[in-house]
Amino acid sequence: MRRSELRQVHELVQQVLALAPDPWDVDVFLDKLEAERGGRPIDLCAMEWQPGSSTGGWKPHPDHDVVVYATNTTSWHQDVIILHEVGHMLFGHATGRQDPHDEWQAEQFARLFMAEIERRPRRAVDDFTRRVEQALG
Ligand SMILES: [Zn+2]
Repeated sequence: MRRSELRQVHELVQQVLALAPDPWDVDVFLDKLEAERGGRPIDLCAMEWQPGSSTGGWKPHPDHDVVVYATNTTSWHQDVIILHEVGHMLFGHATGRQDPHDEWQAEQFARLFMAEIERRPRRAVDDFTRRVEQALG
């Protein structure tokens, strides 16, 4: 993959990261993303994953988007699946085909995003520690 492609993904992650609530909550994030996109709804559709099928999907409709994700996996993996589909949505990928480049971009977006989220708890603890120290004088 070209270096500029990875930078493009990284830039999108940094932009969208501003909408990520702390502590992380995918539903709150999607609400904020909806607001950011002029109120266009993103409907989550939970589905049991079956062997051989994909773990998620995105279907744009005239006035809303539907994101399907597998429920029979860890909540971390569910978030990765949802973010992967959000990646397709934000990059404006075509739907109804499996383009290897698009898949790579969406997956990198989801992984980078979750990696950023996972770095947060430590910072939250630091803030808490600092506040406690201040309170104790
Ligand atoms: Zn995909």
